[in-house]
Amino acid sequence: NRAKIDFSQTLQSLNQKLNDCTDSGVITSLIRQEINDLLNPKILHIFLYDSHTDCFIPARESGKALTTELIFPTDNPLVTLLENRGRRSLYLRDGENIPDRLEGEKDRINLLGARLFIPMVQNANLAGWLALGERRLGEPYSSADIYFLEALVEELAISLGRSRVIRDLEQRIEEMDVLAGIAQGVNFSLDFEDILQLVYLQTLLLIPADFLAILLRDQTRAASYYAYFSQSGKREAGKENRPLADNYGLDQVVLKTGVPFLTRDYQLACQEEHLRPTIDGVYAWIGVPLKSGTETIGVLSLAASSPDFRFGDDHLRQLRAIADLTAGAIIKISLLEESEQRARQMATLNEVARELGSTLDIKLLLNRVLQSAVQILHCEAGTLFLVDRETGELTFTVTVGPVAKDLVGKRLPAGTGLVGKAIQTQAPVVANDVLRHTGWFAVPDAQTGFQTRSLLVFPMIVKNVVVGVVEVINKRNGLPFNRADQELLQAFAAQAAVAYENARLYTLTDQALAERVEELSVMQRIDRELNASLEIHRAMRITLEWAMRRSGAEAGLIAAIDPSVGPTIMASQGYADDLERLDGKLPELIPAVRQALLSGTLQENTDLGENQDARLLPQAISQLVVPIRRDTGVIGIVLLESSTSTLGGEEFQQFIARLCDHAAIAIANARLYEQVQQANQAKSEFVSMVSHELKNPMTAIRGYTDLMLVGAAGAISEAQGKFLHTIKANVERMQVLVSDLTDIARIEAGRMRLEYRSESIREIVRDVTSSLRAQIEQKQQHLEIEIDEGLPAVWGDRHRLIQILANLVGNAHKYSPEGTQILIRAMQSANDPRMVQISVQDSGFGITLEDQQKIFQKFFRAEDHEVRNVQGTGLGLNITRHLVEIQGGKIWFDSVYRQGTTFYFTIPIGPTN
Ligand code: ADP
Repeated sequence: NRAKIDFSQTLQSLNQKLNDCTDSGVITSLIRQEINDLLNPKILHIFLYDSHTDCFIPARESGKALTTELIFPTDNPLVTLLENRGRRSLYLRDGENIPDRLEGEKDRINLLGARLFIPMVQNANLAGWLALGERRLGEPYSSADIYFLEALVEELAISLGRSRVIRDLEQRIEEMDVLAGIAQGVNFSLDFEDILQLVYLQTLLLIPADFLAILLRDQTRAASYYAYFSQSGKREAGKENRPLADNYGLDQVVLKTGVPFLTRDYQLACQEEHLRPTIDGVYAWIGVPLKSGTETIGVLSLAASSPDFRFGDDHLRQLRAIADLTAGAIIKISLLEESEQRARQMATLNEVARELGSTLDIKLLLNRVLQSAVQILHCEAGTLFLVDRETGELTFTVTVGPVAKDLVGKRLPAGTGLVGKAIQTQAPVVANDVLRHTGWFAVPDAQTGFQTRSLLVFPMIVKNVVVGVVEVINKRNGLPFNRADQELLQAFAAQAAVAYENARLYTLTDQALAERVEELSVMQRIDRELNASLEIHRAMRITLEWAMRRSGAEAGLIAAIDPSVGPTIMASQGYADDLERLDGKLPELIPAVRQALLSGTLQENTDLGENQDARLLPQAISQLVVPIRRDTGVIGIVLLESSTSTLGGEEFQQFIARLCDHAAIAIANARLYEQVQQANQAKSEFVSMVSHELKNPMTAIRGYTDLMLVGAAGAISEAQGKFLHTIKANVERMQVLVSDLTDIARIEAGRMRLEYRSESIREIVRDVTSSLRAQIEQKQQHLEIEIDEGLPAVWGDRHRLIQILANLVGNAHKYSPEGTQILIRAMQSANDPRMVQISVQDSGFGITLEDQQKIFQKFFRAEDHEVRNVQGTGLGLNITRHLVEIQGGKIWFDSVYRQGTTFYFTIPIGPTN
C-alpha cells in the first residue's frame, strides 16, 4: 500500500511537470527519472515510432546518449506481438521462455536485456514501448508496479502527442511567415509595366500572334483603355492609356459579356457587333476576359495577320490560364498602388489639415489646398474659384498650372460653364472629354492657349451654401477621372471649405466680438446710470437717450404705463412742437402702440402710409414700438420714428430689447423707491403728529401727579402715594419714548435742526455725569473720567452732544453689573487731528458678534436676558448715530461678550479764536 501511495503521488506530480513540457526529449527524461527512482531497473529503453523511417527507434533524451542502437521495423515480430496485445504489457519472468513468435528475435531481445515490455498506444496504434530489465535488487515486478508503469506510459503518450501537435503548429506558423515574406517581396518588387511585359513575352512564346493587347476597364466604368498594345513586336505607345469609347474594338464584346470570343475575321466581326475596329488588316482574333471574381476588369487579346491562321481550343485554354494569372497580378498591383496612393494622399491631407489649424491666412491656405489637390491627383492644372456672396460671380482666386497666373482675379458671370453647374447642383461634375460636353466654357482656353481635355469640379459647401469651387484639369497620364479621384477632390474641397469658413468666421467673430463688447460696456454704463438714479424720470431719459443713439431714429419718446391714466410721456427727443397737443398723454390710438400694449411684443412698421394718426412725427415712414416689461406686465413704451425706412435692423432690435429689460428693472426700482419714500414720509408725519399730540397730555399728567404727591390736593394715604409714583415712572418712560420717536421722525424727514456752537467737551461731560451720577451710584458703579489737557473745543449742538454722551454712558450703566467701572475719555483723534475722540468704556455684558451687526438698527435690542432685564426702546443708538453723523463725526465700538464694551465717537474741532 505504501508503494501504491508512492505511485499515485508520483503520477500526480509527474502529470504536473509534464503539463508544462513540450519537448519530447525532456518528457522521456522525466519518465525515466521517475521509473529509476521508484523501481530501479537495471535497464530501461524507451522506444518510439519514427514516421520518417517507419521504425521504432530508441527515444532521444535530452543530454543523454542512446541506451541502445537497436531499431525495430514495423513488421518486426516484437512489434506485431505488442501491437496485438493492445495495452497489455509483456512480462518475461525469470526462467520463463520467450514466446515462440519471438523466436527469431531472441538474440536481439537478449541484447536489449529487457524482461518487461509496456506498450504505448496512441489513437489505437502502437506508438512505442518501454522495455525494462530486471530490478537491481532482483525482486520481480509486482502487479502494482506494472499497473504503475502502464499508467506512466499513458501519461507519456498524452504528453508526446501534445508535444507533437505544438511542434506541428510551430512549423506551420514558420512556413506561413516565410510565405508571407515571399509574397510581400513579390508585391513590392513587381511593377505594373513588368507584369505587362512578362505577359507579353510568355504569351507569345506559347501562341504565335502579331498583335497583343491588354484592355483595362477603368474603375469608374467611365471608359476603358489599352494598358498594353503591341503590333509586330513593337509597342504602340500612341494607342495606350487613351480613353476608348465603348464602340471601339472587339475587346468591348468580351468586356461586356465576360465570355471569350474567337473569330476568323476581325473586321467582319466588328461590323456584326457594330463596333469600330482598333486594328486593320487582320483576320483571326481571340479575346479572353481578365476576371476578378465575377467581375471583368479587362480583356487580353491576340490577333494574327496571317490569312490562314485561326485560333483553336488549345489557344483558348492557354490564353485563359495566362489571363487568370494576369488578372491576379493586375489586381494585386492595383490594390497595392491604390493603398500606397491612399497613404500618400492621407499624409498630404493630414498636412493640409494641420496647416488649416495653424494659420488663418485664407489665400495661403486655399493655395496650399489647390496645390496639393493638383499634385496628388496628378493633374496639369487647377483652379479654385470663390463665389461672390452678393452677385454670385465666380472669381479665379487661386490657380495652378502653365497659364495660371493670367487668370487670377478674373471674374466669370454666375452660372458659367461646368463650374457654374457644380454650384447650381451642389454636386461634382466630371467631364472626361470636355469637347463633347455642352456645358463647357471654352473662353479661358481660347484666351490662354491652354488645352483642357478633362475636368473634375467639386463645390466647396459650407452649411448648404456653395462658397467656392475646386477644379482640377487634365490627368497627366491622360486617363479619365475616376471615382477615387472624385473622392479625393471631395476631401480637398471640404478642406478648402473649412479653411475658408474658419478664416471668414475669424474675421467675423472679431467684428461681432468687438460689437458685443461695446454693447456690454454700453449696458454697463446704462446700468450704472440707471442704478445710481432712483428717480424714475431720469431712468426713462437715460433709456431713451441710448435707444435714440443706437437706432438712428429722428424722434423718439418714452412713456410710463399707468393703468388708471394710460401711457404718460416721461421723456422725448426730436419732436419739437409735435407733442404739444397731446398734453403729456401718448395716444393709445396709434396702432403700433396699442398692439405693443396688448401683445407685449416689439412692433415694427416700415411703411406708415397716409394715416396721420398712426405717427407723431409727421414725416415718419417707419416706426418701432418696444414695450418695457416687468413680470406684472408692460410698464413702459419706447416709441422711435424715422423718415427713412430703416430703423436699426435686427441687431438693433435685439439691443433695444435688452436695453428695455435693463430699463424695466431700473424703472421698477425707482418706482419702489418712490413708494418707500412716500410711505416713510407719511409715517414720519404721522409719528411727529402723534408724538406732538401726546406731549401735552403727558406733561399734564405728570404735572398733576407731582402736585398730588406733594399733597396739593389734600393728604394722601401711603398706598395712594405708591400708585402715584408708579404713574409718574410710567409717564416718564412714555416721555422718553415719545421724545425718541420725535427725534427719529425729525431725522428721517430731514427736519432735525441743530444749533452749532463751540462747545467744551469737559462741560458736556460734567453735565452728563451730574445728571446720571445718582443712578450710577445706586448700582455701586464707579465712574472715571480722563480728559486730555488743552483739548480743543468742538463744533456742535450742545443739547445734542449731551444726548449722545448721556445715551452711551446710560447704556454702559444699564448693561453692566453692579460694582463695575465706567470710563469716559476724551482726546484729540490720533487718526484725524481735526477731530476730538470721546469713548465710553464699560466692563459689562458685552455684545455677541452676531448682535454687533445690528445694534444701530431701529428698535433693536439684544435677546440677552441681562439686557432684557432693563428697560429700553432700542432707539437710543440709532438716534445717537444720526446725531454724531449729522455733526460730521463717526461712531463705532469694540465689544467682547461678557467682558465689556467701548463706544467711540468723534466730533470736529471748532474754529480757533
Ligand atoms: P436700548 O438701550 O433702549 O435698548 P439702544 O439703541 O441704546 O437701545 O441699544 C440697543 C441695544 O444695544 C441694547 O438693547 C443692547 O442690547 C445693546 N447695547 C447698547 N449698549 C450696550 C453696552 N454698553 N453693553 C452691552 N450692550 C449694549
